[in-house]
Amino acid sequence: RAQDLHAKLTLFSMQDHADLSDRLALMRDLRGALAQDQMFLCYQPKLRARTNHVDGVEALLRWRHSERGVIPPDQFIPLAEETGQIRALTEWVLEQALRDQAHLRDAGHEISFSINISGRLLAEQSFADWALATVRKAHGRIAFEVTETAVIDDPDGALRNLRAFADAGIWIAIDDYGSGLSSLAYLKALPANELKIDKMFISGLTSSHRDPLLVRSTIELAHALEMEVTAEGVETPAALALLRVMGCDIVQGFLIARALPINELETFLTRQHHR
Ligand code: C2E
Ligand code: CA
Ligand code: CA
Ligand code: CA
Repeated sequence: RAQDLHAKLTLFSMQDHADLSDRLALMRDLRGALAQDQMFLCYQPKLRARTNHVDGVEALLRWRHSERGVIPPDQFIPLAEETGQIRALTEWVLEQALRDQAHLRDAGHEISFSINISGRLLAEQSFADWALATVRKAHGRIAFEVTETAVIDDPDGALRNLRAFADAGIWIAIDDYGSGLSSLAYLKALPANELKIDKMFISGLTSSHRDPLLVRSTIELAHALEMEVTAEGVETPAALALLRVMGCDIVQGFLIARALPINELETFLTRQHHR
């Protein structure tokens, strides 16, 4: 038994060590990723539920690593947040998204672009000033997606910047609603235009008893607060049909489209347009 335990502990620490050195290697590589042009954006369409028109897209970051292939954001955004590189990444995302938006506008597609803003950045005054000036200069139609927890660290700073964004015409969406420590106090304080219900509630919409109740009451709550509601993670026609009945405003998920590179997005938009 003692030998067993010893073997387990050794294995465990070897795994820990591997994880740690892996993280350090990724952190190191991340530093050169922007300069080496390894980042790219994919855009997931958001559909207005009543009309089936594309209302906008969400920009989702991808990293094409030279040895590991394409790495999803869940694996490097947290690292970027820890190392302070999230600022440079987010600035690149906003600039690239504005360029792609201008390109689509020239091609006749007027849609809004949603950008994910990390909590750490939200309260940073100099980032907020830069973002406001950049969106203004490009005449961008931009939404910022923020999570409720983003406001916990520095509530005063975050709220001040959110208000400045909202005053400048940037649309504010509360992301992943319901997945964290949701609080009515935040809903009351945040100047938000849109509430995005987390996909964990949408996946059980037609199989569980509770999820449809939670989703329906969240839609009612958001509408009472004059916010639009987006359901993310819509994967089945049954879920889509139920969301329509419930009055959900916008739907997003694999059923409609995955996150697409800009050229495929343009094809998707052109096809939608001619339907
Ligand atoms: P998120 O903001 O909640 O983005 C939605 C995620 O759900 C995306 O994963 C999207 O591909 C995925 N998704 C969309 N439809 C479905 C569906 O029907 N079913 C399922 N199972 N998943 C669906 P992705 O692209 O891997 O992004 C993961 C997270 O990484 C994002 O979650 C966001 O928090 C973060 N992220 C992505 N890009 C950025 C960025 O530019 N900046 C920051 N700060 N975070 C980002
Ligand atoms: Ca998001
Ligand atoms: Ca989300
Ligand atoms: Ca998420």
